[in-house]
Parts: sequence; C-alpha cells; structure tokens
Amino acid sequence: MSLAHGHPYLAIPGPSVIPDAVQRAMHRAAPNIYTGELTQMMPGIIADLKRIARTDAHCAIYIANGHGTWEAALANVISPGDKLLFPATGRFAHGWSEVATRLGAEVEMLDFGKQSAIDPARVAEILAADTHHRIKALPVVFVDTSTGIRNDIKALRKVLDDLDHPALLLADCIASLACDPYEMDAWGVDVTISACQKGLMTPPGLGFIFYNDKADRVRENAGCVTHYWDWRPRTDPAELYRYFDGTAPTHHIFGLRAALDMIHAEGFDNVLARHRTLARALWAAFEAWGKGGPMELNMSDPALRSHAVTSAKIGEDRGDRLRDWCEQKAGVTLGIGLGMAAPGTYAATGYFRVGHMGHINAHMMLGVLAVIQSGMTALDIPFGAGALDAATAICAEA
Ligand SMILES: *Cc1c(COP(=O)(O)O)cnc(C)c1O
Repeated sequence: MSLAHGHPYLAIPGPSVIPDAVQRAMHRAAPNIYTGELTQMMPGIIADLKRIARTDAHCAIYIANGHGTWEAALANVISPGDKLLFPATGRFAHGWSEVATRLGAEVEMLDFGKQSAIDPARVAEILAADTHHRIKALPVVFVDTSTGIRNDIKALRKVLDDLDHPALLLADCIASLACDPYEMDAWGVDVTISACQKGLMTPPGLGFIFYNDKADRVRENAGCVTHYWDWRPRTDPAELYRYFDGTAPTHHIFGLRAALDMIHAEGFDNVLARHRTLARALWAAFEAWGKGGPMELNMSDPALRSHAVTSAKIGEDRGDRLRDWCEQKAGVTLGIGLGMAAPGTYAATGYFRVGHMGHINAHMMLGVLAVIQSGMTALDIPFGAGALDAATAICAEA
C-alpha cells in the first residue's frame, strides 16, 4: 500500500514548486513575438528583477539554466589565460570553475571543505600575494546548494577594497535569490548571476546576469565574449528578439511575470521573512531528531545556513532509503546528497537535502517534516522526540 496518491510534492533544491498562478499564466496560445504584449512586458520584468537583486546595475537575460549562466558571466569578463580565484564551500564552486577552465582561464581553488564558510582572511592572503594583479575575478557561490552554506559576500568586498585589488567580485545567487537576503549594490558585487527555477518559482530555462559599469568596462577587452553570450545587446534593447539573441522564451516570460507579481503582492520583505521562519522550523525539527539518532544538519552554526536549502547527514545508506520511502510511500521527493560523496561519485547515500525555496508555506514544510519522521519510523532509524512540536512552535510564533 502507498500513501503517495494525491498531489506529489517536490522538496528538492531546484527546480522548485511551480505555483498554480505561474502554470496558468503559461497555459496559453503562442503569442506574437514581434510586437505587442510580450515586448511591452520586458522593461517591467527587468525592473522587478533588479529590485529583487537589490541593484541599479544592468540586467541581461539568457535562455539558459544555471550552467549556461555561469558561462555567460565568465565569457563577458575573462580572456584565455586570466587567473581566477574560486573559494569553494561545496560542489557548486567546483562546477563553476570547470566552466572557467574550459574557457581557458587559469583556476586557483581555495577549498574550505563542506562544513565551513569562506574565511575572508585566507582569501586576503592569496590576494595580497598577487601583487601583479594577475587574479582578474573572484567568483563566489553565495549559497552552495550541496552543503547549504551561506557565505559572507560583504566581507569579501572588504578584502578586495582593503587591498585595493581590482579583481571583479562575482556572486552566484542561483539558489538564494528571493530566499536569502542579498544586496548586490550595498555589498559591492560587480556581477550577480541567478536563474528562474528556484526562488523565482518558474520552470527552468531563464538565466539572469546583473552587471555593473566596472564589469562592463572589463567586458570591453574580454577575449571570451562570443556573439551569443555577449551581455551588451541583451540589455535594454528595442526589439524583443534582441533580449534573447533570437526567439524569445515566450511562455517563460508569462510565467516569470506571474511569479514576480506574486512576490510583489506578498511584499519582498515578507517573502524573505517567510523563508527565514520556515527554515528555522525545519532546523528545529532536525536538531530534535539528532538528539536521539543519526540525523545531523550539515551546518551546525545557524548563522552560516541558507534559508533556501538544507543539507543533512543521516549516515550509511539511510539517506537513499529515506528518500525512496518518502517518494514511494508518501509522495514527497527529497534532494540527493549532491557533492557530499568521495571525489568521482555523484551523490552520497548517507546525505539528503531539502529545498525550501520559493513557493513554500507552513503546511508544505510541516508536511515534509512529518513525512521524514514517518519514513524514519518505518525504516527503524532512531530519532529524538519532539521534532514536530519544535517546528510547529516556530510556525505558531509567526
Ligand atoms: C542550481 C544551481 C546551479 C546550477 O543551475 P542549473 O540550472 O542546474 O544549471 C548553480 N549554482 C547554484 C548555487 C545552484 O543552486
């Protein structure tokens, strides 16, 4: 017997749950791509995206997933042979650095492991030794989606400023935009990248780059800029097809518009507060379980945890068995233990992740927690008492 029949629930860290309003907005006949509604919608969409990234910088949109956006950002600011310093706090910095290597950059990794945030002092040591300014960019993953670590971007800006180092500061906000507080301009980020399928609640397919004038001046001489990845023609063009260097992602534009309207209707601060409270509820449950069993949050310090994704260790092959049980018996799909295994293996069987980004509310989060607890009970995995009480108490305070 399975209790999974009913509305399935996707609790992976992207793509995230698609709101009905977004689906409805996309369910329509093919529109004109030359004039009319779609063309008129673009300036408003760009303005709303900038509000969410907290920036007055330029914005370019690509038909691409996060990997495409990684490449788009780098292609505009580097030349073959340029050196880049990638601090890593999980799988995603490595993924981005592989893109840089293929573009011909010389990559230096500064790996902080899977349970520590970036230490600005160690970044400072390397930049201070770079007296000839060979390091052209510092690409940083703000929230690493494999480990759930949230890095201090502002501190890295200070490192660059204190050393008067001209390297560009690039931030990957794909997992975190509209979930974790982020301030592109106030934190002094030169290039921010994101995508639509996580906090922005739209099916995968749109990538966003926000870049300031300093980054645009670097683009002037960047040897990797190609026709398709060039951000300039995509920024504030007159015709719709120039935004996308070709056919517009018609239905995605309608979907994204609906998602942005939802964020606006709720109020951006309320969106962030909802993520914070639901994340705290989730963590409270995991901490309670951990007091009487093998469950353990990857990050013990709440100040370093993302409010969009949580990575947990449960040991041996229990992560995989629990994920299978939750999906098959209860209709909840949890995320794999991405990046937590030994090098060369894809995912760790003793880890799993919960995405809590975008269109999530208390009943979804509490449902996920109750299902995880049911799964542990069914699989004879021991756990501490009071987890659901701890989570509901936090929801009750809201
Ligand atoms: C999801 C994600 C990516 C990759 O996005 P894809 O759409 O899967 O290519 C990159 N960086 C971060 C931080 C992410 O969360």
